[in-house]
Amino acid sequence: MIDAVFISDLHLSPNEPEITRRFQSFIDWAKTNQVKAIYILGDFFHAWAGDDLMDDWCKKIAKIVKSLKDKGVLFYYIHGNRDFLLGKRFAKEAGWSLLNDPSILDFQQGRIMITHGDQFCTLDKQHQRFRKLTRNALFKGIFLSLPSSWRKKMVNSARRLSQSQTIRDSAVMDVVKSDVIKSMRNYRADILIHGHTHRPCHEILTEGQQKLERYVLSDWDDNPVFLCYDKTNGFYFSPGVLFEV
Ligand code: MN
Repeated sequence: MIDAVFISDLHLSPNEPEITRRFQSFIDWAKTNQVKAIYILGDFFHAWAGDDLMDDWCKKIAKIVKSLKDKGVLFYYIHGNRDFLLGKRFAKEAGWSLLNDPSILDFQQGRIMITHGDQFCTLDKQHQRFRKLTRNALFKGIFLSLPSSWRKKMVNSARRLSQSQTIRDSAVMDVVKSDVIKSMRNYRADILIHGHTHRPCHEILTEGQQKLERYVLSDWDDNPVFLCYDKTNGFYFSPGVLFEV
């Protein structure tokens, strides 16, 4: 039995059927392994222009999530920078609970901070401006009241912009560790789990009086690894759950 699994950055899109298949395999794997709770830490969808624009493909994804939820598995979701507009309507359809970014979980190992993670990429000023705007409730409200064709166009152009950004200096795109530590201390967190950077790792940030640890989740482009947790073994990355389709 696995108490919790953490995933992020699937970037599900109708243009990437392979990733959708991987997600279906993940759900089957979770069923087989009696996973109790799943936490999605943002960028589940590659783009999201509003719940009212849900098409058959989106409904199919919601149904896949719901199939696990109906087996009693708890499903939680935190927004990413791609799917920040995902709302209550999809949440209801999928049967998952929306969590604040960041959220704190109280585990045996201490206080676990879970977040998408893009707020730590503080060297990327352009992204921080985008983040501030898009996480603003007023902006979201105004954006969602625009005609659907405009919204789709704007979401697609934002996506193209961020794709061109990925070729920029890689240090700029990573987290600033001093900001990570500052934020963890603010929230009195012992362990941080985040996605966004697509650079999976486990590291000890500070030793001494308070040991701080950070886990970074992988994307789903090739062979994703999942961060698992159970009371006996603590946290561990799933050893090669393979998706041979
Ligand atoms: Mn992201």
